[in-house]
Amino acid sequence: MAGNQTFTMIKPIAVKNNFIGPILKMINEAGFRIKAMKYTRLTKQQAEAFYAVHAGKYFFEGLTEFMSSGPIVAAILEKDNAVADFRKLIGATDPAKAEEGTIRKLYAESMSHNAVHGSDSDENAIIESDFFFSKMERFEV
Ligand code: GDP
Repeated sequence: MAGNQTFTMIKPIAVKNNFIGPILKMINEAGFRIKAMKYTRLTKQQAEAFYAVHAGKYFFEGLTEFMSSGPIVAAILEKDNAVADFRKLIGATDPAKAEEGTIRKLYAESMSHNAVHGSDSDENAIIESDFFFSKMERFEV
């Protein structure tokens, strides 16, 4: 059965462009509840740890430089079928291929500056949520 939680980050470029508000509005209107949230900044080392699965790929250095270049918003989101529904809401990794009306279509600049992160599986949603949040930082609402 599909889990009911996913993990997201509003990436540095979207924060810099003042898109936190519009992106959170879309997340709320799509029926996601916020279980945990923080405004923070990753160190380069933390970005490398978060994206360890991509270590060695040609875009890894640029990705981790970018993800540690400024503040982000990290959040755990709750909804039935959260992972798949959130991936649908954000659109394809490459915004040029993202469907109309998706967060990446509206707010991303490019493949590497694609506005938001969304977990790709229930298992990774748990790993990524645990990377950022303790139990005390999660709330039932
Ligand atoms: P996501 O789950 O859609 O975010 O995609 P991935 O987990 O596969 O990749 C993580 C992030 O790395 C993406 O959001 C992109 O910003 C970046 N990325 C992935 N693949 C590529 C690529 O082929 N080229 C570049 N420049 N960036 C990439």
